[in-house]
Order: sequence, then structure tokens, then C-alpha cells
Amino acid sequence: MDVSGREVPADVGARPGTTREFARVGGWFLAAVGGGVLGRLTLIEDLQVVLVSPFTAIGVLWLASSPRRSWWWDVPLLALAQGLVLAATGADAAQVWSAVLIAPIQPVAVVLLLRRLAPHLWGGGGWEPLRTIHDLLMVLLACVLGTTISTGVRAIGLFPLPELDATGLAMVWIRGVCWATSAGVLGLLIIPELLRRRGDRTALLREWFAGRPGVVGETALVLGATTLLYSTGSRLPVSFAVMLVTVWAALRLSPVAATLHALVSGTVALFLTLQDVRFFSYSTDRLEAVALAQGFTIVLVLTAAVISLLTASREQEMLRANAAEQASQEKAELLDAAIARLEEGVVVLHEDGSDLLRNPAGRALLELEPGLPYDEAMPGPEFGIFDERGRRLEVSELPHARALTGIATPATDFVVRAPKRPQGMILQITATPLATRSGEPRRAVVNFRDVTAERQERDALASFAGVVAHDLNNPLMVANGWAMALREQFLRGEVTAEQALPMLDRVDHATTHMQEFISDLLSYTVARDQQLSLEDLDLSAIAEEVAAFRRESDSRPEIDIQPGMRVHADATLVRQVIDNLISNATKYVAPGVRPQVRVEAHDKSDMLEIRVIDNGIGVPATMRGRIFDNFQRAHEGSYNGTGLGLSICRRIVERHGGNIAVEDDHGHGSQFVLTLPRMRTAPEDGSPLTP
Ligand code: ADP
Repeated sequence: MDVSGREVPADVGARPGTTREFARVGGWFLAAVGGGVLGRLTLIEDLQVVLVSPFTAIGVLWLASSPRRSWWWDVPLLALAQGLVLAATGADAAQVWSAVLIAPIQPVAVVLLLRRLAPHLWGGGGWEPLRTIHDLLMVLLACVLGTTISTGVRAIGLFPLPELDATGLAMVWIRGVCWATSAGVLGLLIIPELLRRRGDRTALLREWFAGRPGVVGETALVLGATTLLYSTGSRLPVSFAVMLVTVWAALRLSPVAATLHALVSGTVALFLTLQDVRFFSYSTDRLEAVALAQGFTIVLVLTAAVISLLTASREQEMLRANAAEQASQEKAELLDAAIARLEEGVVVLHEDGSDLLRNPAGRALLELEPGLPYDEAMPGPEFGIFDERGRRLEVSELPHARALTGIATPATDFVVRAPKRPQGMILQITATPLATRSGEPRRAVVNFRDVTAERQERDALASFAGVVAHDLNNPLMVANGWAMALREQFLRGEVTAEQALPMLDRVDHATTHMQEFISDLLSYTVARDQQLSLEDLDLSAIAEEVAAFRRESDSRPEIDIQPGMRVHADATLVRQVIDNLISNATKYVAPGVRPQVRVEAHDKSDMLEIRVIDNGIGVPATMRGRIFDNFQRAHEGSYNGTGLGLSICRRIVERHGGNIAVEDDHGHGSQFVLTLPRMRTAPEDGSPLTP
């Protein structure tokens, strides 16, 4: 192959004067001499005509395989070979010169015509082997026309050769067509493939002669049948039976094997005819017998080539069709598998409303009986598909019904309440009409997905942002208001420290609250998004550190931590939970009461249940479920706070697979109960995992 991957025959690129070029020309020259000598063995002296012409076959292949630029020496050498043969086999000078001049005409004419008629083929100037019936016809046409030209030259009597009658000329013509066609067809079947697959010839031979299972046995049968026919009694007209075997071989064997078999059969028939035994030897006219035998060879070779090429191309087509079918089947299976695994529901509908395809998600999302009419599947006004204004859609307004009339519904949210999903859900539905050819029933594809959680999250985020904006705005306005008031005081005249300091205190208070709020917001984001780094922790030690800091505060709280509590959790986040809970426990106490806090724990299967018990003001029963939501506060006014601390705690605890709740301590305070995963490994000091 050349750099562009194109297949290049071996002969191209051989430069004149190189050893390879000498070998090439020398080889062909010797072959031409050999072919000429073989032909001279069948010479009819008085007519100066040979009965067989392997020389023609060699000449055609020689010129077909050589580039035009080397014809300058190829053609004269071809003529010289014929001249030498004649000179060496007793021809006179006139005959030698005639042969030298006539010999190249046929090969030159055939190859030039081939270049014109089939330039893509090897021998016609291209690289391709013989594959189609059209190519075969072009080869035949080139051989017939080329031979007609050379026979015509012989017939017009320019050369000092004996004149030939009609039978003689017919024999010369048939002989030329026979040898040129046989060489052309076989050469074009074999040589380009041999050149193209030089590194892979064993495989190529296997393809030709053992391409499929059983072919070796069939070849043996073909050869056996042929041998049998050729050894039948002398002069029996068995040629029709040879034809039968040829057709059989062409149907079963590769084009190369079948055509080769036909050529050998024809050549043996010709040989036997020449020997005056069997086949066409019944004809008393020797020229006629030889012409018949060579015509028979042409018919055999062409029959084999036509049938085997057709069979091979049909086999190729079948292979291609099978491969295409398999590929499309694989594609369909892949598509089915992909659609089946989609979380999104996909339904393809027929014009009559029946399902052509519905993936498992499409079945599971609505849990509707397939094929049930809308009003039966969604009975009553409370079930159905509702638009954003809460109006129940009529059958004709349903996205799939509109798509079947050719109107698409882009991705739109609908509230769907089905009998098995009475709580309702928000489905984003897209319905698209499928393009069909005119006259074919309409189809539509509907895809839908449950966006309930997404929409809830979106709404929660929107209200979160609203509350954040509001809660930041309030202290800002307070700080701004007091700053303005102070400014006015200054403008009015002298301001005493007693007047200014309370105002500055209020500004300070507002900005401190903002700072706490922003810090809580940051903690909330961390609690939500930070990747967990789990490890075995001494929870008691962490709680002790937190407590030590809290004990310093003005209210001097008593904090009692149970030793030996161990969990498997993220240290930073767990510290945040304990800090929030102890800080709340010391904050939410009645005025004048000394806060008393106890942190204790005990096992609950593979979790540790931790309790933070205080003697505070308790959480009103109505607020117990809500204080873990963002910005929810049970005691507004007298107690500072942002309402984010407990939602941070819940987020952290839930991310660890636990939960958190508040219990009433029978009017004596509150108990916050949370669970966290227990420590995985036994502590090194041998103390129990939990007390
Ligand atoms: P913050 O303390 O900043 O207001 P939290 O989310 O920590 O926010 O608490 C939410 C609400 O729960 C508090 O406003 C308070 O009303 C109530 N609360 C929390 N802990 C206690 C507690 N130990 N005793 C009584 N009420 C509490």
C-alpha cells in the first residue's frame, strides 16, 4: 500500500534499468517464448497457422501488468520472442518478419481497449479485481474487438502468409478470443488480489479454495466428476455434461476456483481434441474441431465466471444484509435497554391512543392501567391532570392528545393526582408529534418526569432567600436609623456621651446580630454541602471542650457531661451540633435561673442516642415539630437568635444517618434527643464503647 492507503500493484514503480525491471521483463520474455513454442507444436505447416495460442495469453497478461512507459521495450521484446520462436522452429525469413509484426497487435489492441472500457480494473490502468458482470462484459468486449482487429490484419493479406478460408479465419478468431479471454478473466480475478494481499497469501488461497466448510469435499467431487467424464469412451459427446459440472462448480466454489476449473476442463478438452480422441475429434475438419474446442473453452470460462460472480456478489449482499440486520438489532436492543433505564417516563402513542412503547418509568410514575380512558383512569373532579391555575384538563387538552393532532407541548409543569397517587405530584410533561409519511397513522412521543421534589426545593430556596433578605434588612435598617439619629443630634449641637452611647450600643447590637446571622448562614451551607470526613470520635471530650467555654459565660451554667460517649462521625460538624444544643440549653432559661445542662447517651442498636437535657423554659408543644426548620423560632423578642441553629443540627444529624427531635421534660425544661452512628472499633484503653 502507498502512504494514502491505496492498493498499489507490485509492478508499479519498477524503474527501467533496475534489477527488478530486468527480472520482470526477462520473466515475461521467457514465458512468451515458452507460449510460442507450445503453439508451434500445433502448427499446420501449409497454412502457417498454430492451433493453440498460449503466446496470446502471455502477451495480454504481460502488457496488462506493465505501465505504459515500459511498453517502449515490452512490445518490441514481445515481438522479438515470437520472432525467435519462429526462427528457431524452422520458419523462413518472411514468416519470421510477418510474425514479428503481427504478434503484438492482438495483446496491444486488447489491453488498450481494456484501458478505455474499464479503466478502474487492474490491466485497465486501475487496481481493482474483476467483481461484477459489467466488468466481465467489458473484458470480453476488449478481447473480442482486439482479436477482431488482429484477425482482420491477418485476413487483408498484407503479409506474405498463406491465405485462410472462412473456417481458417474463424478458427484464428476463436483461438484469439479463447486465449485472450481466458487470460483476461483469470488474470483479473487472481493477479490484483495477489498484489493487494502480498503479506496474506495463505489466507487468500484459503478464501479461494477453502472459503467455507465443506468446500474441499465439494471441490473433490467436482474434480472426480470431471475426471470421470474425461475418461469416458472415446467420441462420446460428453461436453454437455462438462457444462453441467462447470455450472455446479460455479454455484458452489469461489469465482477463482470455478473459472480455473472451467479453463482446465476446456484446455483438456482441447488437448484431447488435438490428440484426436474424444470431444470434438469427431469432426473430420481439424481446424473446425480445434475451433469448436476453443469455443467450448470460451463458453465454459464465461459460464463459470458469470455464475460464480453472481453467486459471490449475492453471498456478499446476504452477508452485508445479515450484518446490517444484526447491527440494527443490536442498536434496537441498546435503545430498548437505554429507554428502560431512563428515570424519565417515555411513551410513544398511536393515533388511536394505544401505546406503541412505554418504558418502566412511564408505567411506574402514574401507576395507571394501560389503555384506560382518561376519565376512567382519573375518575371524579379530584383526580386528573391540572394546569398551573389548578384547572382540570379536558381529554382534548391533554398534552398527548394535542400532540396526536400535531400540536407540540414544550416542557410544562402539571399537577397530577391519580387514584394511586392521591397526594398529587408535579410532572413536567413534554409531548411532541412524530413525523410520519402522509397516509400513515399519526404518532406522538410523550416524556414526563416527577419534578415534585425539585419544585419544592426551588420554592424552599426562594422563601429562604426572601427570609435571608428580610432578616438582613431589619438590623441594617435599625443600625442605619440610629446612625442617622446620632448624625442629626450632632448637627443640632453638642452631643454628650450619655446621649450618644445608647445610640451606638443599638448600632452595635444590630451589627452584631447581622454578624451572627451571616455566620449561621455560612455554617448552614457548610452543614449542607461539606463532604463528610468520618472517624471514630470521643464525643464526651468534644462536649467537655464546648462546655468549658460555655461555663465562662455570665449565667455560670452547670454543665454535666457523661464520660465515655463515642461516635463515628465528622468531628467539625458534630462539634457544631453539640455547641448549638448546649448554647441553646444555657440560653433558653427563665431570668434569674442558673442553667443546668446534662449531656448523656446510651446505645440504640448501631446508633448512639444522645440527650441534651436542660432546666429551661421548654419548647411549646405546637412548635416542637417546626423549630428544626429554617428561621423558625419559638421565643421571639426576649431571646436573641437567628432561627438557623437547629436546622443546621438537623441537617448534620441526618447526613450522618441519624435524626433529632425535642421532648418535653414534664414542664422542667426540654430534652433534645439525637442519634449518631456508634464508634466502629473498640477503644484502645479497653473501656466499653458506650457507658
Ligand atoms: P435560635 O436559637 O438562633 O433562635 P435555633 O434554630 O437554635 O435558633 O432554635 C430555634 C428555636 O427553638 C429557638 O428560637 C427557640 O425558640 C427554640 N429552642 C431551641 N433550643 C431550645 C431550648 N433548649 N429550650 C427552649 N427552646 C429552645
